[in-house]
Amino acid sequence: MHQAHPYVKHAYLEELLPPKRMVFLVNPKAGTRAHRHIVRAINAHLDHRQFVYTVWQTERPGHATELAHKARQEGYDIIVSVGGDGSAQEVATALLHTDAVMGILPAGSGNGLAMHLGYGRQLERAIRLLNTAQVRTIDCGRVNGHLFVNVSGVGYDGAVAQRMQNSHCRGFWPYLYHSVWGGLTYRPIRCTLEAEGQRFERVFFVVSVANGSMYGYHFHIAPDARLDDGLFSVVMFENVPRWRYFFAIPSSLSGRLYEERFVAHFQAKEVKITCERPTFAHADGEYLGQGDCFRFEIVPKALKMFVPTRH
Ligand SMILES: [Mg+2]
Repeated sequence: MHQAHPYVKHAYLEELLPPKRMVFLVNPKAGTRAHRHIVRAINAHLDHRQFVYTVWQTERPGHATELAHKARQEGYDIIVSVGGDGSAQEVATALLHTDAVMGILPAGSGNGLAMHLGYGRQLERAIRLLNTAQVRTIDCGRVNGHLFVNVSGVGYDGAVAQRMQNSHCRGFWPYLYHSVWGGLTYRPIRCTLEAEGQRFERVFFVVSVANGSMYGYHFHIAPDARLDDGLFSVVMFENVPRWRYFFAIPSSLSGRLYEERFVAHFQAKEVKITCERPTFAHADGEYLGQGDCFRFEIVPKALKMFVPTRH
């Protein structure tokens, strides 16, 4: 099968070009054990006529940002985050408004961004998708100055992120445990949400500000979210009995969350959320601490992303 070159779409020129240099930044602390067999999987599935590669492991929080800076300085063309949304956010921080191209391999707990982009959750398949991926420029977001690529939120989501940060376990079951326990114990608070002339004042369970459409695990939090439209999808969950959230899970899995009556949504470039007392917030699943005022702003066309050509 002929493999298309990621940049040059000419069969004869492709033959003459040297392979692109690719570095995989592997987070061994992410949700899965992908780091144990990543080299074997890359050797088996990456197109080595197109790409020469190396693998670097991250050793601590924030290290992926340092390594991505280093990779850019050393002239790597494509910098691939191997981890979850938190790892992707760290790599994106170093590549914002540069010509370096970012790729993602799903190796985290949720993998929301990888799911949205079409890489899926399966590592070997995602590596094969890199072979035919194309460069697209996507938006990012900021919340109180913190970058995020996929989804940020205030309220219940932030409480779950805090619980995950304090837990040493990763993966689906710990995430489910903290989601359920957080759901039972989180006390919703009154917030005022302002965005481009719109104003909502209610007791919210959670407000999600989404750049990408998915939390991961096939949960569509914002089915209308696009990564390149210069807008957030803002999704507000009103405070209703907990069992109603539970019964909305099938809607979320099938992309029909907006049909639930306790869910309201709109799109905006900027959002300000003011809460009557400090509450929890997260950005790409990373706990941001508590605060009572959160300002979200879109960063349009911020990041060059390697995106699968077919889903
Ligand atoms: Mg958007």
